[in-house]
Amino acid sequence: MEHKGVTVWLTGLSGAGKSTITVALGEKLRAEGCKVEVLDGDEIRENLSKGLGFSKADRDTNIRRIGFVSQLLTRNGVIVLVPAISPYREIRAEVRGRIGDFVEVFVNAPLSVCEDRDVKGLYKRARAGEIKQFTGIDDPYEHPLNPEVECRTDLETIEAGVDKIMGKLEELGYLPSKVTA
Ligand code: ADP
Repeated sequence: MEHKGVTVWLTGLSGAGKSTITVALGEKLRAEGCKVEVLDGDEIRENLSKGLGFSKADRDTNIRRIGFVSQLLTRNGVIVLVPAISPYREIRAEVRGRIGDFVEVFVNAPLSVCEDRDVKGLYKRARAGEIKQFTGIDDPYEHPLNPEVECRTDLETIEAGVDKIMGKLEELGYLPSKVTA
């Protein structure tokens, strides 16, 4: 499968569906023979960014590190999937500028829906004050103003979200059109 390298950056609140869409999208791309890597924000915090907290400065450092690795992979022809809350607009723009081949996906569900899902039980703990600086509760989330794709995960299925992203990758020339035909 001939395809170009690109970073697919999935931003959104905790529980919005970034990881779920990443897994489904990764499976679909791999089944088509694409080279895919995933740089998961939480996983990067466990290794490359161990010790960083959730201040704006630490979050920005984490995102710059992810962006750096993603840039190396992207320029080597990999489709890099990055599910990361990445709440700050400015740092997302910076990473986009460095990488160039960058598709921003706003994985969007209302806070109330994310909180009801509470996949990891973190919202409950944040509301109880056990976790500080939790995005959406007592820390900001700056939604993208002009994302290439928006997946409304409270209204659309996982498959619909994946198809939208695949379609955009094809439209932008990162995938040959036969993949989604
Ligand atoms: P995040 O990675 O953004 O923190 P997760 O993917 O871990 O979020 O959790 C999202 C939850 O929402 C999962 O339990 C998933 O099954 C559910 N979900 C329901 N509908 C959708 C959808 N259309 N897209 C993605 N996730 C969905």
